[in-house]
Amino acid sequence: MNPSGSKTIRHDIVAPGGRWSHRIERGQRLRIVDREGRQAVDFLCYSADLPLDRYNAANTVKINGNIYIGTGTKLYSDHARVLMTVTEDTCGRHDTLAGCCSAHANFVRYGVRDTPNCRDNFIAELACWGLGPSEIVANVNLFMNVPVRQDGGIAIEQGLSKEGDHVELRAEQDVLAVLSNCPQAHNPAAGFAPTPIEVLVIGA
Ligand SMILES: [Zn+2]
Repeated sequence: MNPSGSKTIRHDIVAPGGRWSHRIERGQRLRIVDREGRQAVDFLCYSADLPLDRYNAANTVKINGNIYIGTGTKLYSDHARVLMTVTEDTCGRHDTLAGCCSAHANFVRYGVRDTPNCRDNFIAELACWGLGPSEIVANVNLFMNVPVRQDGGIAIEQGLSKEGDHVELRAEQDVLAVLSNCPQAHNPAAGFAPTPIEVLVIGA
């Protein structure tokens, strides 16, 4: 049992640069803990019954009316159905814009080749569920700080999350949740030194 009195269904530590996925039933909650702070977690979710209906960043931003994700934000799908709702958030800001890091983008941005990256993590984890790279869309970046300036400028800046901050999302339908504990070492997404996270699935 956890402090809320609900049964913990699954409890994992995801190593720096690691990946994780789970089918989460409607009403169950996914809790992600940034154990040491300033650790971006790249997150995708899909309708478990209809995997081609998946998280849609544009629908999420325009229907919630905000580019940031926080308590109360609903994650909308391609079909504008609610996949998950953020029910707890001690960090206060999560990104919808910057998508995942990839070997390709790391080469363009930083001149480094073959770096560990979230896109490769997504490809490997989605394959476990019979889904291919074309199912990767612009994802949620939990605990990643990408402020938008008045002139539209953006940058990945130092994370705002502190040691032990967490975010909790309730499944509003059965969903497949997929995450990559970002291995990025060339920008502040993971504080230039990726750290482990804790992931729990909590019963309804
Ligand atoms: Zn990454």
